[in-house]
Amino acid sequence: MAKISINLTSGTVSKSIAVIGIDLGTTNSLIATINRENKSPYCITKEKESIVPSAIYFGENGPIIGSEAIAKLVAEPENTIYSIKRLLGKSYTDIQDAKQQLNYEIIDDEDKLVKVKIGTKYYSPIELSSLILKELKSIAETQLQEEVSKVVITVPAYFNDSQRQATRDAGKLAGLDVLRIINEPTAASLAYGIGLDPTESRTVAVFDLGGGTFDISILEIHNGVFEVLSTNGDTFLGGDDIDRAIVNLWTTEYKLSNLNTSDKQLLRVTAEKAKKSLTTLQVYSHKLTIGTKEVSLNLTIEQLNKLLKPLIGRTMQCCSRAISDAEIELSAIDEVVLVGGSTKTKAIKDAVKNYFVHSAVNDTLNPDEVVALGAAIEADILAGNRTDMLLLDVTPLSLGIETVGGLMDVLIPRNSKVPTTLKKEYTTSVDGQINLRVSVYQGERELSADNRKLGEFILQNIPAMPAGLPKIEMTFMLNADGILQVSAEEKRSGTKQVVDMKSQYGLTDLEIKTMLKESIDHAQEDMDKRSLAEAKTEADQLVYATDKFIRDNADLFTAENIEKINYLKNEIVLSIDAKDKDGIVSAMDSLNNYSRPFAEIAMDKNIAKALQGKKIE
Ligand code: ADP
Ligand code: MG
Repeated sequence: MAKISINLTSGTVSKSIAVIGIDLGTTNSLIATINRENKSPYCITKEKESIVPSAIYFGENGPIIGSEAIAKLVAEPENTIYSIKRLLGKSYTDIQDAKQQLNYEIIDDEDKLVKVKIGTKYYSPIELSSLILKELKSIAETQLQEEVSKVVITVPAYFNDSQRQATRDAGKLAGLDVLRIINEPTAASLAYGIGLDPTESRTVAVFDLGGGTFDISILEIHNGVFEVLSTNGDTFLGGDDIDRAIVNLWTTEYKLSNLNTSDKQLLRVTAEKAKKSLTTLQVYSHKLTIGTKEVSLNLTIEQLNKLLKPLIGRTMQCCSRAISDAEIELSAIDEVVLVGGSTKTKAIKDAVKNYFVHSAVNDTLNPDEVVALGAAIEADILAGNRTDMLLLDVTPLSLGIETVGGLMDVLIPRNSKVPTTLKKEYTTSVDGQINLRVSVYQGERELSADNRKLGEFILQNIPAMPAGLPKIEMTFMLNADGILQVSAEEKRSGTKQVVDMKSQYGLTDLEIKTMLKESIDHAQEDMDKRSLAEAKTEADQLVYATDKFIRDNADLFTAENIEKINYLKNEIVLSIDAKDKDGIVSAMDSLNNYSRPFAEIAMDKNIAKALQGKKIE
């Protein structure tokens, strides 16, 4: 319930605002808020379920989000969208791997953001994600009985600039005021209250194995400050891979060939069920009809563990890299936090415990919920309810510009804390150079071409000087969301250019506004159609009335007059054919203006006629 607090001295009334944390997951999304009485976070549920599958089904009555959409995966794979987070903020070339695993149609939108085709319509991943966020907003509003707008949304630590921007855009599009985008592992550690005591110092590893992504983050918490020492992971490693491995095992074992899309989906869903039930059981058995074949599917815990081996190996490699990036010893890690549905699998949990042998493993909270819970705590901090906290996040990839010879020159090294600002001075390489192209890249490779281009701009009107003389100061400003602003200034002349690097893949504010207005625009289109129809009807009537008037008053018109009227009538017909509403109206005006004097004469005559024989006293 919303609480109203009244300031007694001023008499002003202020409404308290719900603070909301959102875990916008690849597979599942959740929302959490803070209980105002006991100040602790909890997940908001719909029909007692906190998990909202991140799936959208496009049916005849518009999009349906969540478990009802998941239910359509088998019957209508082409109309059911899942794992959309894999495409968020990505270009067509980025997603070639992901593409093969998704059953809906993905379109190359001129090498910018990808689009998804459903039926005859095209949707951007941002629009699709916003549908999920809208659903979460509405669930929260129903439950809390108050309007929800201010939110914190989490993203995997590995998300780059354009992915973070895309997430923020999706929030905006859903009508949310996104207070901050934070890393999922940061949220998860907050959920365990690690660091809430400002006198405590802790080093924490957050192990997050979800449906589609794996993240390992090393955090250091000191004086109530969260600092991410390093992040590592794999954006193509998660529970989906386990499901796929099970499907592959079954198709080989039961010689299932020539599977259609529905069969494949059915197997995928069954594989996930098998995997989940092996959290508590030793063997899973299920009868299924695939095509015309009846098969009795089996999966034992030994088989599953064997499939898990390579996957677990990959997660552990990432852990080693994260620890070496953090420049700490394995034994320095005090605690491990388990996150993501896949950490419920016993073999995975055991592997983590074996690897982090010196650390306490936190697994008391539901690993599905920890990220959302922590996001709610962060929202609470940002709402000013916890004043003693500060969050430092980290940028996972280096940011820099291309210099002569196509080299990457790093301004902000990877694992730098954000927000941060860095300046560096450059100069020209050619005498009299007046323009300087600044290309911004993200990545760790030496050659900029091997890294990811975020965008470019041209610093123009540098006064002509010998090469090496201009002093060009480049400033990289990375805000708390990990979104980059770049500016270049020639110091001798003060020539300056500032650019938001979001423009390359993210949506601009204008584009978002345009999309928001789309529904209104459609209304406008309908209105235009209607006023055209109205003008056409009116014009038809005028032409008809004019013809009739000429017939009735033939004596008033010369051949020349008639010719002129026919010309003006034809102008109306041409405008109608061209569906030109304004043209129709002005052609009608012209005809009216031309014929008005005739009408007046005719009227006078008629009045005179009517008055004939009447005496005027
Ligand atoms: P994401 O963060 O990618 O949205 P989640 O953290 O919600 O993902 O995890 C989803 C994954 O967890 C799915 O692959 C799902 O099959 C898996 N999962 C959920 N419950 C279990 C379980 N009991 N045992 C094993 N895996 C599980
Ligand atoms: Mg997750």
